[in-house]
Amino acid sequence: MNTTTTTPPLQMVDLRTQYHRFKAEIDQQILDCIESTAYINGPAVKTLQAGLEAYLGVKHVIPCANGTDALQIAMMALDLKPGDEVIVPAFTYVATAEVIGLLGLHPVMVDVLPDTFNIDVAQIEAAITPRTKAIVPVHLFGQCADMEALLALAERHGLYVIEDNAQAIGADYTFSDGRVAKSGTMGHFGCTSFFPSKNLGCYGDGGALFTNDDALAAKARLIANHGQSRQYYHDAIGINSRLDSLQAVVLNVKLPHLDAFNATRRAAADFYDRAFAAHPHLITPARAHNSTHVFHQYTLRLSNGRRDALKATLAEQGIPAMIYYPVPLYKQLAYQPYWKGGELPVTEMLCQEVFSLPMHSELNESTLERITTAVLVAE
Ligand SMILES: *Cc1c(COP(=O)(O)O)cnc(C)c1O
Repeated sequence: MNTTTTTPPLQMVDLRTQYHRFKAEIDQQILDCIESTAYINGPAVKTLQAGLEAYLGVKHVIPCANGTDALQIAMMALDLKPGDEVIVPAFTYVATAEVIGLLGLHPVMVDVLPDTFNIDVAQIEAAITPRTKAIVPVHLFGQCADMEALLALAERHGLYVIEDNAQAIGADYTFSDGRVAKSGTMGHFGCTSFFPSKNLGCYGDGGALFTNDDALAAKARLIANHGQSRQYYHDAIGINSRLDSLQAVVLNVKLPHLDAFNATRRAAADFYDRAFAAHPHLITPARAHNSTHVFHQYTLRLSNGRRDALKATLAEQGIPAMIYYPVPLYKQLAYQPYWKGGELPVTEMLCQEVFSLPMHSELNESTLERITTAVLVAE
């Protein structure tokens, strides 16, 4: 049977089906927002801010234009200066390191763990120098880095912690004393993205910073709005990074459903895990013992060297697979100047072996069955 002619191609993320579930509410509120003409910093943005503060249990949420800006605003608010070093994982999306370079800071790349794909906290200490000012853990693919160990290390060395939470909104981290915190609320700043495909996505670009520190929140707000303390009074060099009211409208409809979206993702991950458990070369993603996983991506490893062949075979059947990420940060042309040379073994291995399967809030068992069967037949 030629499946390509009988079944439509799948997508990594199905935004349309999710939209259709909420269409009446979203359409009406978008029309109301247009009619109101409060396009920038309107009531919808204030509602989102308050809604996220309550959901996350964090004192301050500062909406901004995108997740990359959130990282930049955090680093500017912390007064990081050219030449300062910032520690990042070598296996991440480029935005994490991009703003570091943009501000004249120096990204220092550290290897990650082979099971959770998150920064290997045990290797951070060796990367700290007198110029180190901050660590940016990335909660990659939807579960928290080992924050308890990382926060203790940062405190010992007097370093700031900026969580890149673009992929993990809604994840819970449990400390050894039983305290539970939402991802992104544990460091000096947490930064997130509302890019359409993220777990909480709008219909364009959007982002936010989280912090429990009043002074840092005030500073970040100032920087995100041209350094303006009151209208036409500019106390600092800032940037123009605001969340559109129309995007906040979409997020306000979706936020109450975020936990349900994440539960569907987790159930899909459980389905994948079960299907691939007995396979000799497919290594399913580990779940950290101290973090829930919200599966921004379902990323597994194929350890027999056939990853790219499998991706091609799946593509022929209309099943997408993506490689997040194919190249270590230090091998990207733009980041080679920051690298001392050599290779980080886990990052190298992951770039060769990882692939991600469709993951979103609308996956059902028949679709999952089709995907897992295709993978198991091909391998
Ligand atoms: C998406 C993402 C960003 C950037 O967010 P944008 O809103 O696209 O600027 C930063 N870091 C990570 C890990 C991401 O996945």
